[in-house]
Amino acid sequence: MRLLLATSELHPYSKSGGLADMVAALAKALGRAGHQVGVVTPLYRGIRAKWAGLQEMDYHLEVPLGHDRFTARVLTAEPSPGVTVYFIDRPDYFDRAGLYNEQHVDYPDNAQRFVFFSKCVVHLARYLPWAPELVHVHDWQAGLVPLFIRHQSAYEGWRLSPRSCLTIHNLAYQGHFPRSAYGLTNLPEHYFNPDGVEHFGGMNCMKAGISYADTLTTVSPRYAREITTPEYGFGLDASLRARAASLTGILNGVDYDEWNTAHNPRLPHAYSARRLEGKAQTKRDLQAEFKLPNDNGAPVFATITRLTDQKGMDIQLGALEEMLLADIQFVLLGSGDPFFQEAFTRLARRYPRKMAVYLGFDQALSHRIEAGADFYLMPSRFEPCGLNQMYSLRYGTVPIVRATGGLDDSVIDLTEDAQHANGIKFRSYNVRALAKGMRKALVLYQTPKLFEQVRHNGMTADFSWEQTSARYVKVFQTGSAAAHS
Ligand code: ADP
Repeated sequence: MRLLLATSELHPYSKSGGLADMVAALAKALGRAGHQVGVVTPLYRGIRAKWAGLQEMDYHLEVPLGHDRFTARVLTAEPSPGVTVYFIDRPDYFDRAGLYNEQHVDYPDNAQRFVFFSKCVVHLARYLPWAPELVHVHDWQAGLVPLFIRHQSAYEGWRLSPRSCLTIHNLAYQGHFPRSAYGLTNLPEHYFNPDGVEHFGGMNCMKAGISYADTLTTVSPRYAREITTPEYGFGLDASLRARAASLTGILNGVDYDEWNTAHNPRLPHAYSARRLEGKAQTKRDLQAEFKLPNDNGAPVFATITRLTDQKGMDIQLGALEEMLLADIQFVLLGSGDPFFQEAFTRLARRYPRKMAVYLGFDQALSHRIEAGADFYLMPSRFEPCGLNQMYSLRYGTVPIVRATGGLDDSVIDLTEDAQHANGIKFRSYNVRALAKGMRKALVLYQTPKLFEQVRHNGMTADFSWEQTSARYVKVFQTGSAAAHS
């Protein structure tokens, strides 16, 4: 198929979370499977300097944005066979320190930035010589694209317009703006109603995607069910229920070219499910790097995360208060909410020989932590898919997760299936349940045979993209959710 993907972040060029990894890996897998793939993404600060080989296309985009017309240049790269990345170059929108915010404050012109981005996507979809058959948009930042396509095909002479698919990576972020922002779309008023773009009087970009995309997917089967309920629907559950027949949950895959322990330039000591000495050495290195005692008797727990409410940081703080009294170590790599940054830092100061915190975003360090730890903590309040638990499985770091969204779909608890168990799961969202999960981990760690089996099950589990991308193609082709949900 001829596929154009649109995303506001793309590994390795830009990343704030799992979206970047997912789109990059999906594009690569689709290209490898023989599809023609384009990916449209903003040219953020630093990309041009870091990736010297970008080519400039010889035409400029020009799109209306309210009363003005705005132009952009387009740069391209070909990161893997069959894949072309189209970078939208408009420095006043994208050459900034952050992707969406700075110092945790959203940019005030995010509506302009991403309505503009969405219009650029549609322009490319319409005028690229290879005429994409389907446009696959990701999250709210590209949520208006399906509507623009529908409108242009109904009223502006776009014959043979592409079909569209929206993938929801996280319903908590919807791109909700005041009504006045709707003027930026240059669309007629009739789309601005509660069955279309309007949500409680404002413009909601995610809702536009939900209402107008031909097909909807989200990143795990369980999250697909959850988001149709008020508890997880963030106010859009009714819109999603209305489209339930077109909604499929497809668990993300893992790019094992990037996330592997055998050939990884970020890991000085290679290891595998059969040869684990490298992991033991990596644990010692990690303890040294974080100035923790070099003690193999103490299991190292780790978390790498955006520090937000979603990730269960409040119950994690509570459970650590209790569990740090036991013989454990804990390493955190994270950035985000200043409240959590401070709370974890304070806790680490109280337990300098048991806990260490690195505040920041560091991809190389995230590999070393995944490889060096024994257990990975992910007590999310909700988790559309979650990638770190799957990276942990491959890295032999047993995940302890709350049974929600993709965490529930990818981790098997001993009580569910003793033979295939690869982690520890708990259900209730509270400190006690998480602490109990951690105590189970301690017992597991002291039962080497069982620990090795659980770890081995995780390391040999296969979440590769080949099968996953084939599921997407099926949804793209049939437009139907029936096949996999
Ligand atoms: P989300 O997309 O909600 O943030 P995921 O688990 O799906 O959660 O993906 C998070 C991705 O971002 C993972 O690749 C994780 O390693 C990475 N990540 C999150 N925080 C950091 C950090 N501080 N440093 C490096 N990588 C991080």
